[in-house]
Amino acid sequence: MELSFAGPAFPTVHRLAWRRRLRPLGLLLLSWILLAVSLWTTFTREEGYESEGLTESIPFQRYTLIIAAAMLQIVAASAAIVVLHARTECLVHIAAILLSMWASEAALVVKFILQIHGLKDYGLAVAVSLGCLLGVGWGVQKTFIHNAEADIEKVLGMDMGRHRTYQLLKADLLLSVLVIVAVASQRLMVDLESQWPETFRIMASVACWAFLGIGIAFNLWTLPFVNRVIRAVDDTATRGAQLAPEAKASQGKSDSDDPDIQKILASLKTHRTFMLGLCLARLLVFGHIMLFGGFLWPIAVDLRVRVTDSLDETFAAYLLTDSVHITTLYYFFLLGVIWYVYGGLSSIAAVHARFYDEELRLLKRDYQRATFVPGSDSRWQAQVEDLACRAITIEALLDFYVGLGTTYMPSFTPGRHTTHDVVRQAIIPLSASAGSDLAKVLMKGRRLPPQAMVSHTWRGRFRDLVAAVVADSLGEQEYGRIGKLLDSNIDLVKSWITRESGLERTYWICAFSVNQHLSICSPAEPPTDSITGQLIPTCGCSCPKFLNTDEPCRADGASIHCEMNKFGDMMAWLAAKDNSFTHVLAMDRDLDLLTRAWCVAEAAESYIMGMCQYMKVSSNSSIRKKWAKVKKLRVEGMAATRPEDVDEILQRIPNKTEFNTQIQKLFGRLFGQFWHVPPSERVLLVCRELRWRMNMIKALSDEAPGRLIESQLKESAEETVRQELV
Ligand SMILES: [Zn+2]
Repeated sequence: MELSFAGPAFPTVHRLAWRRRLRPLGLLLLSWILLAVSLWTTFTREEGYESEGLTESIPFQRYTLIIAAAMLQIVAASAAIVVLHARTECLVHIAAILLSMWASEAALVVKFILQIHGLKDYGLAVAVSLGCLLGVGWGVQKTFIHNAEADIEKVLGMDMGRHRTYQLLKADLLLSVLVIVAVASQRLMVDLESQWPETFRIMASVACWAFLGIGIAFNLWTLPFVNRVIRAVDDTATRGAQLAPEAKASQGKSDSDDPDIQKILASLKTHRTFMLGLCLARLLVFGHIMLFGGFLWPIAVDLRVRVTDSLDETFAAYLLTDSVHITTLYYFFLLGVIWYVYGGLSSIAAVHARFYDEELRLLKRDYQRATFVPGSDSRWQAQVEDLACRAITIEALLDFYVGLGTTYMPSFTPGRHTTHDVVRQAIIPLSASAGSDLAKVLMKGRRLPPQAMVSHTWRGRFRDLVAAVVADSLGEQEYGRIGKLLDSNIDLVKSWITRESGLERTYWICAFSVNQHLSICSPAEPPTDSITGQLIPTCGCSCPKFLNTDEPCRADGASIHCEMNKFGDMMAWLAAKDNSFTHVLAMDRDLDLLTRAWCVAEAAESYIMGMCQYMKVSSNSSIRKKWAKVKKLRVEGMAATRPEDVDEILQRIPNKTEFNTQIQKLFGRLFGQFWHVPPSERVLLVCRELRWRMNMIKALSDEAPGRLIESQLKESAEETVRQELV
């Protein structure tokens, strides 16, 4: 299979991406048409229109129409931008909110145009406008409060009372429907020029009062939970400062911890203010509509007329009693919050680039799945599928890790031994009697397809590899501190994974999934331990060896039984089979991965196929110093344990100069993910950071001066020194 960034997929994908970006144009076009009609109506119509027993003055109506039409343009532009980028769940929800807002505002404009023209719509425009307005508020409560509660419950394991919140949301939805029916039928009565019976008004009022009551209950219910999280952060900051002054000193950071926690605190408090503000604004808007619409029995039905009369029908009276203005203000506030959540105008360019990449990726994904054809040689394809279904669960991986240094490989030092050492001294010996890959032994013969493929270098620390896989299952980007936690409290790690993605998540890792006994288990030159330099005894198994060109071969001379020449075909098959199959790049501390031929080829492969790529690094700050290495990437200078692998990979690349440019860009983008985090994932990020803090404090207070924590801190202090030396 050819490895090229200029394959047939790319022109097609770019064309499709442009076509997709034209979609929001329809929304803008419709808004412009409505604006034009509004302007035309304003400047041509003169007569008045009688409504609700109150002759509305034409200048006021014109003014309202222009306000609504202008607001429509702002809403349409915002909705178009978000719709263009709505690729994550949170953004899809925000897009839905903005589209409802647009529909509500558009219905309002239509209503005024009809009114000024003296046309009746029999309550239809009001029903649409109010329905969408209710939907907007409901969507905000669901997205910003209920979903945030779900994130907090999932990550921190705190009880946020989410089920009660959900029940309140359901009641809110039901009452919203009743309110819409009531208001729309009142408008219908007016347009039919019939009387509004008092009993009907009382029934409608009951629904309206209940709706307002539910709104208040929602606020009273959710606020204490948000406060609880804020208190927990506050507590973490104070206790952290009390418990670990010496810890901070030994880590070589005197005050750097405190600004972080203050940032979390400030971010959560802002979130609380906005959310509370939005809920209250919604109550205010509906309270206003219901009060002056005569829906709050026993308050007088003609309140609007009375207020206007008492204020001599002035502009102030009109501003006070008309609900359009308060709705407009509510929308302005909501747009402000959404832009804040979305990242503000300043980060649009960065976020836009990221989402454009995501859009291309999804299109490449569809293209790969649609055009995939398995290899024509059935023996080859059978071998590919056999190799692919050798995943191990994260639980099996952690169980294997626990045994290192105790049950097997007694000399194992977590902070120093490489994957290569572990393959030679644990993986090969443990799978020798079975003569198979270790995945088969660890999974007790169970064969599973992987949910993710892991690329890593054998020269990196083994603990880092395990930590990177754990980081992936926890949705974290950094694995450095997870590594330390693996050695001090692996049960805590397991409980976190159970909450996030489950211990059954499966990974394909070459060290475990490739049968080492068919290739490298007994090399001519005996390997040595990377720390002690001692010779490692080679494997005594009698398995036949199959290297790249050993018989039986495919027509092109590639060995069928060799397991090291099928990674590309295997990834293509898995990616075509499973749309959610992802690629994890476990970047080692020295960024050695960038010089390994296999890892770079796999990164290119998964990019071309449009797979989700996640890079895991030891820490964000350590990467910032080194990532300039990316600019020097050259595929010709890359290495692999077996030189024949490099040749095979190079043969598959038709244009090496183009490949080098593209691979540099690809890794540049992967590193860029660390500094362009979409703000829509803010709550989740804050929770994950908080989880670390809270558990660190708990460990410090439980065990202070606990042996484990002390050793952890000592190790991290050593590491800081080492990093600074580098
Ligand atoms: Zn062997």
